[in-house]
Amino acid sequence: MAKNNVELKVMVVEDSKVTMKALCNYLKRMGVDNPFKAVTGQEAIDLFRKHRPDIVLLDAILPDIDGFDIARKFRGLEKGDEWAAIIFLTSMDKDEDVARGIEAGGDDYLLKPISEVVLGAKINAMRRLVEMQRALVEVKHELNLANKELQRLSTTDGLTGIANRRFFDQLSVREWRRCERMKKPMALVMVDVDYFKKFNDTYGHQAGDECLKSVAAQVARAAPRASDLAARYGGEEFVLVLGETTVDGAKWVANNIRQHVADLRMPHSASSIGHVSVSCGVASLLPVEGMSFDTLLKVADEALYKAKEQGRNTVVCAD
Ligand code: GH3
Ligand code: MG
Ligand code: MG
Ligand code: MG
Repeated sequence: MAKNNVELKVMVVEDSKVTMKALCNYLKRMGVDNPFKAVTGQEAIDLFRKHRPDIVLLDAILPDIDGFDIARKFRGLEKGDEWAAIIFLTSMDKDEDVARGIEAGGDDYLLKPISEVVLGAKINAMRRLVEMQRALVEVKHELNLANKELQRLSTTDGLTGIANRRFFDQLSVREWRRCERMKKPMALVMVDVDYFKKFNDTYGHQAGDECLKSVAAQVARAAPRASDLAARYGGEEFVLVLGETTVDGAKWVANNIRQHVADLRMPHSASSIGHVSVSCGVASLLPVEGMSFDTLLKVADEALYKAKEQGRNTVVCAD
């Protein structure tokens, strides 16, 4: 059935040959040429599994399985956003039968003998629902994608592509609590580009940005474990969160970062060593009662300050 560019798959489940023939003729006149046909409940379930029709005309009384049970089975087979409109075909017109049909997962019912006009009207009504359902699924999909992108944007630093301060603030506190529960030390490496103001002054802000990207990549490269986090702390400062890590482990990682940045040999004429370097402050603490992540941050920052004092391009560990 092609109307409003929406292809509808219709299935007819009916054991009476006469009724089946009449229904198919009616459907043909409505533009539904080849509906899936089932004369038993088992056939209906097999066809439903295979073809996922949009609309099912379902006889309430079939030789093998009760129509209401088939409807329940269909509903059980539907996954996620899948949904088929189910119209019962029944000669039972008692209120309880209608209620039973809807309760079993049916959406509407048609009384036998079936009127072509009523069938046409109900098919049209169901088509509208199917179209709405499809539109909703599409919107939901787009919303999901937009949400994911928003999530990514809100946690990522736009310049360097690594985690931003906001994400660091959230994750570091969580990691602190995790280490507290595990009774394991948590380490933090603070990385600061040396004489970066002079770098900007000498080479321009754009070159400064490129330099920050390169340094960020080296910080990220040093954080291979899933629980590690490399983030831009702000300006030309970066942080590396290392869960379950002692000061020796963190020192080794910090030295790698310092060495890898130096190895890039990014020219920096205003630095005494002639190329870009970083200084690192390292701290590792065992989270205990009364101590917070801010303590670790403060201790690492003090170590960084000492690294600067000691002439830069160096790693200092808090004792
Ligand atoms: P030190 O060796 O003591 O760390 O000196 P420094 O010059 O690196 O430190 P300072 O804090 O004086 O200067 C940091 C500079 O980093 C100043 C600021 O303009 C620059 N900066 C901060 N964010 C960005 C950025 O996103 N892009 C660029 N290009 N520069 C930035
Ligand atoms: Mg029947
Ligand atoms: Mg700084
Ligand atoms: Mg600096």
